[in-house]
Amino acid sequence: MKAAYDPTKVNQVLSRLGVQMKKDRAGFWVDNSYGIRHAPPFRHGKPEAGLWFRTRGCGHDRIGGCVMCDYGAGPDSVTPDEMINSVRQGLETLPTNLYHLLVSPLGSFLDEWEVPKAARIGILQLMNNTYYESFSFESRAETINDWLVSECCSLLSFRPLKVYVGLESANPWISKYCINKALSLDVFEHGIRTLSDHDVQSVSNVILGTPFLSPNEQIQDAVQSVLWAFSRGTTECCLFPTHVKKWTSLVWLYQMGLYSPPSLWSYVEVLRLLGPDICSKIELSWYSTHKYQDPNLVFSPTTCDQCYETVIRYLDSFDETADFEFILKLVNFECSCKDLWRCELAVLQSDTILNRTINAYELIGSRLLHSWWDLNREEVLQRLTIEADAYSWIK
Ligand code: SF4
Ligand SMILES: [Zn+2]
Repeated sequence: MKAAYDPTKVNQVLSRLGVQMKKDRAGFWVDNSYGIRHAPPFRHGKPEAGLWFRTRGCGHDRIGGCVMCDYGAGPDSVTPDEMINSVRQGLETLPTNLYHLLVSPLGSFLDEWEVPKAARIGILQLMNNTYYESFSFESRAETINDWLVSECCSLLSFRPLKVYVGLESANPWISKYCINKALSLDVFEHGIRTLSDHDVQSVSNVILGTPFLSPNEQIQDAVQSVLWAFSRGTTECCLFPTHVKKWTSLVWLYQMGLYSPPSLWSYVEVLRLLGPDICSKIELSWYSTHKYQDPNLVFSPTTCDQCYETVIRYLDSFDETADFEFILKLVNFECSCKDLWRCELAVLQSDTILNRTINAYELIGSRLLHSWWDLNREEVLQRLTIEADAYSWIK
């Protein structure tokens, strides 16, 4: 079975860090077989909900995963019948008047290692038996193929479907060395095209807040990644500001003083730079901690106590109405924390992204990887440096 990630793009240092961070992972999926998230305020005025069901987890998570991800994993023993029953139970708790429903595993719906064929078919049949108007799920680009997409469309009676596909960053060096996405951009493009061939909408997930990048570089990378995804035909993008969560590589970097989440002012700045046309096709996600009540949260993107509620209110209003006026209100809003954020943006970095990444790797290697680092350090740092040659602003 094909892996749901590109093995040639796996970053050994960040993967090993991820595996260590997750090895004693407890959490939600030990005691729960499904999770529900209602999404007030309703996006573009329409009621939506998300239903996640327990699986053995994302295949990429198993080997360390992306630095920010805390999706978690159930036991290997979860059977297709259990997955179908989890979704059935979850559906029974949902209101009947939803417009849109996301039904997703912990990683990729189309990955048969995670969601075997019997579970996929049974769950799609359950979705098709509801009265909701449209559906979505998440799946990595590697798992998307013509045959599977066609099967999904047919089992859902060709009702509107969208698929969330993780991109995070469209810069291959950042994707590999700062996020450990293990993704080939060619495969991503192919996935987006395949969805489009079947009239399935694609939503490219992009993050703001990549480690080892300065606040300014994080903003530029998020903007460039959104623009790249649209240039390759994605229907929408979903913009996530990164949170520090338990059991992730990011929490270790945070504890070592090597990371802090982006300011919500950076989030607003990305939206400002993208402008009203692009923003009408942007889904906001995870900008507010109120909405998610995630027990894994350690530190979240924020502003200050004086303005936080107002900032969230305007972002909620934009999410609900897609009216760019709410973003402009935030652009024109002043607060002392915004001045501090501006000062942070203006700081000239004394070091390059490459050197910041190398310094972090040295710490990860010496503190956690010991003999493996001693054996592999030279080769890892050499490759990291050679591959940075393609990007003058990283060196
Ligand atoms: S972000 Fe997606 S691909 Fe990455 S580890 Fe988490 S579930 Fe897997
Ligand atoms: Zn403030």
